[in-house]
Amino acid sequence: MANHREGLAIGIDLGTTYSCVAVWQNERVEIIVNDQGNRTTPSFVAFTPAERLVGDAAKNQVARNATNSVFDAKRLIGRRFSDPLVQSDINLWSFKVIEGPSDKPMIVVNYKGEEKHFSAEEISSMVLKKMREIAEAYLGTTVKNVVVTVPAYFNDSQRKATKDAGGIAGLNVLRIINEPTAAAIAYGLDKIADSIGKRNVLIFDLGGGTADVSLLSIEKGVFEVKAVAGDTHLGGEDFDNRMVKHFVEIFRRKHKVDISVNSRALRRLRTACEKAKRILSSAIETIIEVDSLYDGIDFFSTITRAKFAELNMDLFRKSIDIVEKCLTDANMNKSCVHDVVVTGGSSRIPKVQQLLQDFFDGKELCKSINPDEAVAYGAAVQAAILTGIGNGKLKDIVLLDVTPLSLGISINYTDDMSVLIPRNSAIPAKKESNYTTICDNQTSMTISVYEGERARNTDNNFLGGFTLYGIPPAPRCVAKVKVCFDIDANGILNVSAEELSTGVMMNITITNDKARLSSEEIDRMVQDAETFKAEDDEHRKKVKAKEALENYAYDMRSTINNEKIGSKLAPAAKKNIQDAIEEAIEWLDGLQLVDSELYHDKLKWLENICNPITIYGKQ
Ligand code: ADP
Ligand code: MG
Repeated sequence: MANHREGLAIGIDLGTTYSCVAVWQNERVEIIVNDQGNRTTPSFVAFTPAERLVGDAAKNQVARNATNSVFDAKRLIGRRFSDPLVQSDINLWSFKVIEGPSDKPMIVVNYKGEEKHFSAEEISSMVLKKMREIAEAYLGTTVKNVVVTVPAYFNDSQRKATKDAGGIAGLNVLRIINEPTAAAIAYGLDKIADSIGKRNVLIFDLGGGTADVSLLSIEKGVFEVKAVAGDTHLGGEDFDNRMVKHFVEIFRRKHKVDISVNSRALRRLRTACEKAKRILSSAIETIIEVDSLYDGIDFFSTITRAKFAELNMDLFRKSIDIVEKCLTDANMNKSCVHDVVVTGGSSRIPKVQQLLQDFFDGKELCKSINPDEAVAYGAAVQAAILTGIGNGKLKDIVLLDVTPLSLGISINYTDDMSVLIPRNSAIPAKKESNYTTICDNQTSMTISVYEGERARNTDNNFLGGFTLYGIPPAPRCVAKVKVCFDIDANGILNVSAEELSTGVMMNITITNDKARLSSEEIDRMVQDAETFKAEDDEHRKKVKAKEALENYAYDMRSTINNEKIGSKLAPAAKKNIQDAIEEAIEWLDGLQLVDSELYHDKLKWLENICNPITIYGKQ
């Protein structure tokens, strides 16, 4: 990019199925459209023998290349391979995931004829990079700074891994914020809380593959997560599947064949269903049309909004049950909720909105911002605040996130959780606590870090740990070790331990957590990301050169076949040109993609031969 606006920052909602990017500019938030004219971009990355595709292009070719099309990276990020959720998801995916070093899940694809392994961070970095490019194309400037959102329930490791993905994409992640927090900011609910006092806000997020409900209480710039509830497999894709099933049945009745055995036909039908579903959020009836769906049979049918709702009613109700569960967990009556915010593409569905509104006894929902854009909207507002770009309108918002889980330690493998930073503490936060030896002449102390609300650490989530050596031998309870927890604004935790008499110290970020990346790994991945970019650019160059030759050859073929021009040439000259055109077309047909220079040379050669007709053509 030619210019660079220092300090410009964008907000990215990195979704499981779709991502969205927004920027604060001209005193308002603008949602940025991608190269296909869409306001959200599939979080898809695909690898082919020739190139790497990200976004719409990747999603559009899934039917042809299922095993090398990767999605759902957000379900893997910051998790271990042995995590039961990862294990059950693996069975649902068409791409392969294997156990990498240190229990890290690795995605296996075939790219340019070679087996390649990618971490979830790398795949997410490719999506983030795409979102960055979308923003750069729109703004006409380079963009480096970004606010990225994550679900409220993401733990420290998942947040860190998301931040790493930003790093691999060459971005400077100013802050990681919670998706429900971003949605509340989009509606300015924090400002309302500032002027009229504490607000209880329920954020209903029904997306592509997940349903998340969060209850926040907002007061004096602090967003406290009161409760979260969700279903990891409930969303738009399930609604698409119901519609697919419906049409498979219609096809079976009409043509006496079962297309569900043909995965390609199913995928094509699913794409058409997703499109129809979106239309049904604004129209009450639509058509569905797939050419040559199965065995050369074209498929055509219609579906109404009411039929679509009927097919999915139990699932819609399930999403409302989550709201109830969230309120129960927070021990709050629905009448105490001040605002209900709808986010996630699937909450555009009128029936879902109606059920939600009915649940809240007719309360008006916050839905004036497109639900699938509200999170990116809030992230862009936050990005502007952090970079000081926001004008007077934004200046007053101080955003304080909180720790979603308590953070603490156990000493020397005991099972007791000693909490240093309680759940819902505002971050950044720093806490210290002193510990002592439990045996005479104890010279080392092992510190294990956990997150969770349970008293016994076997029930909490282990984040990592280390051993402090060099404690001077002494009777028990004499030596004192100061443990310090330091969480930065992104919710990323550093832990240190210091023996107070000698000053021996261990100071670590919890890098021995199996699901985290070392800085060398990040460096390597940044390098890889650059390499891929060069390869992608090279490929595009070849395709462009090939197209130029192809277009020229076909153009000349139709020119010479044109009576007016063809007849002006001597028969031998005409034949010479025709042969050259056919030779070029044949050369193109029989060829894998080659170096762009070869296409340029061939084009020059053909242009020389065709010169006479271009002269006649101009006459
Ligand atoms: P994510 O869950 O990945 O964060 P989104 O919140 O953007 O992503 O939700 C994506 C889902 O929303 C997809 O299943 C998509 O089909 C669905 N969706 C998008 N627009 C509409 C619409 N107008 N009506 C119904 N569903 C929609
Ligand atoms: Mg989302």
